[in-house]
Amino acid sequence: MSDQVRTAIVTGSARGIGAAVAKRLAADGYGVAVVDLDEAACATTVDAITAAGGQAIGVGANVADEQSVVSAVERIATDFGKPTILVNNAGILRDNLLFKMSVDDWDAVLGVHLRGAFLMSREVQKHQVEEKWGRIVNLSSTSALGNRGQANYAAAKAGMQGFTKTLAIELGRYNVTVNAIAPGFIETEMTAATAERVGVPFEDFKKGAASQIPVNRVGQPEDIAHTASFFCSEGAGFVSGQVVYVAGGPKD
Ligand code: NAP
Repeated sequence: MSDQVRTAIVTGSARGIGAAVAKRLAADGYGVAVVDLDEAACATTVDAITAAGGQAIGVGANVADEQSVVSAVERIATDFGKPTILVNNAGILRDNLLFKMSVDDWDAVLGVHLRGAFLMSREVQKHQVEEKWGRIVNLSSTSALGNRGQANYAAAKAGMQGFTKTLAIELGRYNVTVNAIAPGFIETEMTAATAERVGVPFEDFKKGAASQIPVNRVGQPEDIAHTASFFCSEGAGFVSGQVVYVAGGPKD
């Protein structure tokens, strides 16, 4: 790929919010590495990007696994382009009330969200520091403020905010900004799975959620992609260490 094109990595971008972010960053003119657990599953996003005239590569990796992350970032840097933009989006849910939450539920969620963001950022910052330019965008959540049945996920998403602010302080001198997006209810397979778990048809579940949201609708993956696009833009170079709630209304 041409040296003039910046390379972005979006984790968990085979579907959902990650896929929308990957497509948006490609439309913004970046080459995009679509990273997800299953390399074959990345094809849908990669094909959509290339069909629209963009540049993309699909890479299978488990963000919670150190060797998998090291190999994936190395492969992207060698075969595609030095990554200077990173969106830490990969995520899972293992919801349960505290008294029923297993150690595996706890470790799996903290592993993908926090350990995953740490491992990916540690590999990508090498390229950002070398290039003296970079953008990291971390996916937090309104659940960081507390949500019944999500002790593991809330801890991980609150952790993402402290992680974001610390990296912003450490990497600022290299012209690298680090910000977080905290989405509210976004219509994806993740929220569809939650509806199924609580036994409510997804349409009713969405209607119920929308009635509690000031703009009177649930969010779409493109709502998050738009915010990610802003954080990654040249003009946002003085915005760092921020958490933006993209939730159709105020949160605190
Ligand atoms: P999603 O539809 O479930 O997509 C998540 C993607 O991450 C999937 O493709 C999944 O792959 C991948 N993934 C999971 N574990 C991974 C791992 N260890 N390594 C690499 N990829 C992995 O979720 P989403 O709704 O788009 O959510 C994206 C992010 O936004 C998550 O961090 C989530 O916590 C956050 N968020 C979502 C909402 C919402 O309302 N949807 C709200 C707030 C925050 P598999 O298909 O193979 O599992």
